Amino acid sequence: MTARRAVVVGAGLSGLMAARTLAEHDWNVTVLDKGRGVGGRMATRRITAPDARVAIFDHGAQFFTVRDPRFESLVNEWVRVGVVREWCRGFAGDDGHPRYVANNGMTALTKHLANGLDVRTSNLVFAVKPGTTTRWTVVVDDGSELDADAVVMTCPLPQSYSLTVTTGVELPNELLLTDYDRTIGLLAVLDASPAIPAPGGLQNPDAVFSWIGDNVAKGISPIPAVTFHANPEWSAQHWDDDAETGLTLLTEAAAPYLGGATIVASEYKKWRFATPKKLWPEPCHATADDTLVFAGDAFAGPKVEGAVLSGLAAGAVVANA
Ligand SMILES: Cc1cc2nc3c(=O)[nH]c(=O)nc-3n(C[C@H](O)[C@H](O)[C@H](O)COP(=O)(O)OP(=O)(O)OC[C@H]3O[C@@H](n4cnc5c(N)ncnc54)[C@H](O)[C@@H]3O)c2cc1C
Repeated sequence: MTARRAVVVGAGLSGLMAARTLAEHDWNVTVLDKGRGVGGRMATRRITAPDARVAIFDHGAQFFTVRDPRFESLVNEWVRVGVVREWCRGFAGDDGHPRYVANNGMTALTKHLANGLDVRTSNLVFAVKPGTTTRWTVVVDDGSELDADAVVMTCPLPQSYSLTVTTGVELPNELLLTDYDRTIGLLAVLDASPAIPAPGGLQNPDAVFSWIGDNVAKGISPIPAVTFHANPEWSAQHWDDDAETGLTLLTEAAAPYLGGATIVASEYKKWRFATPKKLWPEPCHATADDTLVFAGDAFAGPKVEGAVLSGLAAGAVVANA
């Protein structure tokens, strides 16, 4: 029997988990992502300092927690194979709950999950439309088309929606209106260690930042490298600032955390779809025939764990249809 064919749009956590689930059920799966690499919001960045050494930053997700037993067993396996490790048990004292990170930066986890899958990066999906010989056809930006018996969409919802308008499928209005908080970030390479207390992270320390992370203390950067995330309110207020103004403002706000060190290189970064503001009450949303499924962290929770659980659910819906 010919294997059924699925296309997964997005090689973030949801897409990779959906793809792995489908591959386990003997589907022929292709994952398409517009990015140069896999990971989506599990992004890790390198910045070269003036002395040519390279600083490493987690730029999107910083760490993750575990609640669901299905996620716990996956995390235990990732720890066993050396992809993930516990960083600490809280940033304002030990609250007993492990915070996990990927060794070598968060992208390493998604690279691990992509192993053995047909993942095509630098492939921007333009549209999904009804197919002629299969249920769906996925149109890519180079003009090529992929036929699919099922498609799993894992982009942030407004993006997934715009790519699937051509399917004629109607989505619940509330789903269409899902909005996302924005995050503006500053990645700063320093000439000395910052003033961030052990274990190396500060959550909501002031009116500007939601997170300040020391990537050396975290164990991923060989030289001083700090990730600053502005909170949703500050990010919304300054979204349209030009990059130079934004960088100046964030650099000023970062000063108290530098401990006398100087920023020797930096990047100003924006996440338009950082965190869904409202969650859909199911782990994914499928069409009546279960051949077009929407997944991602807007479904099972606005975090690493939610993205993983949503991807698993989407893969299972298609595989069991
Ligand atoms: C700044 C920030 C900090 C965070 N911190 C934490 C944290 O500390 N702990 C935690 O648990 N979670 C955190 N999160 C949330 C976590 O990163 C996300 O919940 C999770 O990574 C989402 O995974 P996903 O697969 O649903 O979506 P994504 O990772 O966004 O994957 C979607 C993919 O779709 C691709 N795509 C979009 N459009 C197209 C197209 N047209 N064609 C092809 N591909 C396309 C994108 O390139 C992307 O790779 C943070 C997120 C951000 C942005």
